Formats: sequence, structure tokens, C-alpha cells
Amino acid sequence: MPALAPFPGAAFFHKGQRSPVITAMGKRLVAEGCGKYRTGPGPEWTDADQQSYAAWQRKLEFEGADANGIPGKASWDRLRVPTATPAPAPGARVASPVPGHRVTTPYRKKGSHWVLGYHTGADYAARHGTPCVAVRDGSVVRSGHDTSFGDFLVLRVGGFDFWYCHLSEQTVKGGPVKAGRKIGEVGSSGKATGPHLHFEKRPAGGGLRSNVAPDW
Ligand SMILES: [Zn+2]
Repeated sequence: MPALAPFPGAAFFHKGQRSPVITAMGKRLVAEGCGKYRTGPGPEWTDADQQSYAAWQRKLEFEGADANGIPGKASWDRLRVPTATPAPAPGARVASPVPGHRVTTPYRKKGSHWVLGYHTGADYAARHGTPCVAVRDGSVVRSGHDTSFGDFLVLRVGGFDFWYCHLSEQTVKGGPVKAGRKIGEVGSSGKATGPHLHFEKRPAGGGLRSNVAPDW
């Protein structure tokens, strides 16, 4: 029995969104006899996904706006979409994204200086230049710069993205990496009061507000 994918929020489902969660959802819709796909479900949110989801909502006897094809929590939970994250391979786990360093500011801590009023990831304070490593086998799918997050990397592992922020160095800018491989260095780029790694987890492709507890 695989773990179930938590409802990522209705705002997650929009044109241009790509995520393995959407593929897993599509496969479940097909299994429920609600698939309206011409070429089979894929990772990108399309009209066919919306039409298929609407068929699922009607199957549940939802009506009107509740059957508009945009997933809601009630219908999502009943669809039982399996999480796309593979089971961790033995030995593929590392103890910390900043080896030798522990969380110094926890996830969900409240504070008015954070954009959402709480801390959306976990911070690991460490000296400038301390190595940051891939927490699991995965692939670096994004590297870039953001005014808040500074220089960042996104490590995709199954159905989730791990964001490595405020880096001073992006060692790996893309492609597959093994757990434990150095991918960047701690810094204080972007909005940071001192050198630390801000480590955030989201459903793959998820935006601001889609954060979940940063475990791996
Ligand atoms: Zn932080």
C-alpha cells in the first residue's frame, strides 16, 4: 500500500504546472473510468486533466462549482492518489543537507518578518562556504536567483522538490545527483541576516504556500 499524496491545494492545478503528482492523479482517474485523455495522462496540467477530474467529481455526485474539474480536498482524498516518491533506497539517506549541522530555525516557526507569517522551511546556520549536499538521489531541476531566496537550487526527488536557498555557490546547476553529493555552498545571498541554508520542501513544481514539512 503506497503512501497517499496529500492534497496540494486547488491553486496548484493551473496551466503550465508540471508535476509527477499530476501524472499519478491521471492514472487514478483512468482507473476509476473517468479518463478523458487522448494520449494518456502526463505531468502537465491540461484541459484533458480538468475534464477527467470533472468526470470524477460527477461520479461522486458533486454538482455545479464542485464539479468544475479543479480538484478540491474532499474529492482528492477519495481518489487516493499514491505519492510519486519512491521508497528510500538502503544507504541513500544522509543525516543533514549541511553535513555536521543541525536545524537552527525550525519549520513553521511564527514571525512577522516572514512573507507568510511563518517559516516555510528549516534553516541550518553554518559558516559561509560550508558544503550543502543532496539529501536523496534525485535531479537538480532548477538553479537561479531570487530576491528573497538569493542563489538557489531545486533538487527533485520523486514527487517533491527540495529548495536550497541563500547559497554562495551553486556547484551543480542541473542533472542527476546521488544522495550525499555536494551541490552547493552555504551563503547569505538574498534576504538573509547571516550565512545559513534555508531548506524548503514542496510538491514537485509547487509554488509559494505549497510548502510541507522538510523531511526526506
Ligand atoms: Zn529560512
